[in-house]
Amino acid sequence: MVLRLAVVCALSCLVLAGCASKSPSDLKSAKTAFVPVDRQSILDRDYREETDKPPFSAFGNSKRGRSFGSLSGRTLKVSSVSDIRLRDKEVVLTFDDGPIPGKTDRVLATLKRYGVKATFLMVGQMARNYPATAAKVVKQGHSIGGHTYNHSNLAQVGSSRAFTDISTGNTAVTRATGKPIGFFRFPYLADTASLRREVTARGMIILDADIDSKDYFKLSPATLAANTMAKIRAKRKGIILMHDIHGRTAAMLPLLLSKLKAGGYKVVALQYHRAWAPKTLVSANSSETKSRQM
Ligand SMILES: [Zn+2]
Repeated sequence: MVLRLAVVCALSCLVLAGCASKSPSDLKSAKTAFVPVDRQSILDRDYREETDKPPFSAFGNSKRGRSFGSLSGRTLKVSSVSDIRLRDKEVVLTFDDGPIPGKTDRVLATLKRYGVKATFLMVGQMARNYPATAAKVVKQGHSIGGHTYNHSNLAQVGSSRAFTDISTGNTAVTRATGKPIGFFRFPYLADTASLRREVTARGMIILDADIDSKDYFKLSPATLAANTMAKIRAKRKGIILMHDIHGRTAAMLPLLLSKLKAGGYKVVALQYHRAWAPKTLVSANSSETKSRQM
């Protein structure tokens, strides 16, 4: 499962490498870090959606303007991973690797139209490049998390470099959004027991995912939504992994949300909740001793 989901982020990183001004060496590194998949078969930079139209009006799915408010479920105040306990037919929406103007904007518009909140796991480099888009995510009431500065594979770089990358990424996201980092997702979901302990000790909550939308494949939005919905029906609940850097993800989101609503599912919002400030704990200058004292 971990390996399979790791592929998701690996593929997304390839796209990220193309849209986040990575150097050729970085791109080479990203390409060699994971499975030898035909790159042309997965990159979507030339992909053009033909069905990028929401299925409904801006205010409802009928001429009477029925509200989408009922799709919105509980808001979980999360102080630890154990607080994320989903009930039957509850899902959490997560978007990795952004933000990026245009695609993230379209995702935000859909979430707003359906009245639901998501969690965006931002890459620091992307937040630095597109601070206005990052800030817009927070302004619209979504929760955010870190995803390192440049989407490196933390399990391969050693603890010191790993935490430099985490901290630099978090700082960039915080600088763009004005919000401290509460949640964290490992790029490629590539973790180790030691890294997980250390990330947790620094006040972050590791957000794993258990429903893979596979939005890194060049499938139609309708197929992506149908495939994702099939997995949700099988598991009946879970944290859905998506990527707001893909145009097809933005295109399929209205389809997915309409299916969730029709199926009686609820979208649960995650709200990081802790008495002490993780921003201080994950700063580059924080010492281990200082972290634990706080
Ligand atoms: Zn990722």
